[in-house]
Parts: sequence; structure tokens; C-alpha cells
Amino acid sequence: MKLLKGQPVSEKIQADIKAEIASWPQKGLALPHLSVILVGKDPASEVYVGHKARMCEALGFSSEVIRLDEKISQNELLAKIDDLNKNSKVDGILVQLPLPKHIHERTALEKIAPGKDVDCLTKTNIGSMVVGDAIVKPCTPAGIVEILKYYDIKIAGKKVAVIGRSQIVGTPLVHLLTQENATVTLFHSKSENLMQEIKTFDIVCVAIGKSEYFKQADFKQGAIVIDVGIHRAEGHKLTGDVVKAVENDTWLSAQSPVPGGVGVTTIAMLMQNTLQACKARRQS
Ligand code: NAD
Repeated sequence: MKLLKGQPVSEKIQADIKAEIASWPQKGLALPHLSVILVGKDPASEVYVGHKARMCEALGFSSEVIRLDEKISQNELLAKIDDLNKNSKVDGILVQLPLPKHIHERTALEKIAPGKDVDCLTKTNIGSMVVGDAIVKPCTPAGIVEILKYYDIKIAGKKVAVIGRSQIVGTPLVHLLTQENATVTLFHSKSENLMQEIKTFDIVCVAIGKSEYFKQADFKQGAIVIDVGIHRAEGHKLTGDVVKAVENDTWLSAQSPVPGGVGVTTIAMLMQNTLQACKARRQS
């Protein structure tokens, strides 16, 4: 089985970004700037925000993490987002999820100016993505498409299953794969006969949020499996939604590992989106 590692995919995306911005300083153009809002002290969010800041630094982007108290009121958070909307130095705004329960997540996300919504979570940007006219694409699903392309996995015409219909992974992934001419079926917690059905798919993308729920033999022999799940149990290694991929497994033809698979490309796509948002804003 081939391990579909995210690192080489991420390195290629980063190399392309670096090549594109190499001449900007000589032209007097500021490199892209990303502002990340982190409300509270969720340990997993701290890790993700740290990864994002480090990749910005590696690319020469400027970035800031705005840490807000867990008890901040919704109105104060909205005002902070609005400050960033109006700040001409800011190209991308990311509100790290999840937010504390007293804040209405959709209201906070909709406050982000679509031109600066580098996570592609506003209704405007989701709509642009659906009609195939996106400046930014949702980071995790777009990273999955990049992984498949990098490893020369044919998408067009293939029967692809997406398991999980969340707004950040499963649902947008269906659109991006359809735009790549795959024949896509979306499964979710109410789907009947899931275990029988998934045995008929060439490519299966799993994003259900349940540690090691599937094993390799649950899929068709020779299938390609993309594991989106990330689970952190205290004192244990990270796990995915699928049992850990091992190179000497002979059942599947390929599987993305956790860690080291989809998560790595997600951050690279965020950088790509920040660059695209920056360019679009300067042209407008
Ligand atoms: P979510 O909890 O919002 O949604 C889970 C979806 O799975 C739901 O649509 C539900 O209907 C479906 N589901 C649950 N149990 C099921 C079952 N037994 N059979 C079929 N469908 C089932 O999850 P999410 O936000 O999409 O995240 C999924 C996983 O991916 C999590 O582990 C999360 O940590 C991870 N994740 C990883 C990245 C990354 O960059 N690698 C990004 C986002 C999420």
C-alpha cells in the first residue's frame, strides 16, 4: 500500500507560493498578512494556530494571533473582526473554531469580509465555490484534491464516496470532487447499508470524527482511502477515523496517514488562500 503523505504535497504548494512572491519585495509589495483570532485556551486549537503561524513565518508572510478571553461577549468579538475587516494591512482573517458555546458561530463567521475569509466559511464564499468561481477554496477539502492530484490518482470518472457531511469537510468536498468530474456519493450517520455500500467505491474519503471506526477490510480491495479524522486522546498517539495505515498492508492500494496526511496539506491550502485573497484585494 502506498502511504499518501501530506508533507511532499505541502512542500510543493509552499514552493509554488514562494516562487510567486519572490519578486514582491523588490517591487515594494508587502507580503500577505494573516490574522488569526483564538478565543479561549482549547489545547487542540493552540496546536493548530501554532502550525499556521509557523508556516506563515516559513513563507515570509506576516501573521498575528489575536488571543481573546474565553468570556468575551459576542459583540466584542464581532467588533474585533470588524477592526480586521477595515485594516488595510490584513489580507486574511481566520477565526479558529470551535468558539465558546455562548457565541453564535455562524454570526461570527458571517462578520468576516468575504474578501478576507481565507477559511472559505462565509456563505458568499461557499456559494462562489459551489458555482465553481472561487478565489479561495475550503482548506481541508481542497488539500484532499491536491493530495489525489499529487499522487497521480485519477479522479475523473471514478466512483468516490465521501463519508461525513460537515460544513467544513464532507459537504464542500462533494462539490470540489464533482468539479473534478468524479461520480460522488455522500454518506452520513443516517445512511442505510453504509458498510455494504462503501465496498463498491474506488476512492473513499472518511470524515466522521470517530477514532479508528473503519478498518482496511471494510473497503473494496485496491481502494484508495483518504482519512480526514484527527483524534487526540491524552497520553496516546494521534489516530484517524480509519485504523492506522501501514505500508505492508496489501488490501488497499493507498491510504493517507494520520498524522502526516490531510492535516499537513490543510495548512498549506490556508497559505494558498491567503495569497489568493491578497492578490484579489490588490486588484480590486
Ligand atoms: P463533524 O463531527 O462535524 O461531522 C461528522 C459527520 O460524520 C456528520 O456529518 C455525521 O453525519 C457523520 N457521521 C458520524 N458518524 C457516522 C457514521 N458512523 N457513519 C456515517 N457517517 C457518520 O466532523 P468534521 O468537522 O467533518 O470532522 C471530522 C473529523 O475530521 C474529525 O476527526 C476532525 O477532527 C477531523 N478534521 C480534520 C481536519 C484536517 O485538517 N485534517 C480538518 C477538519 C476536521
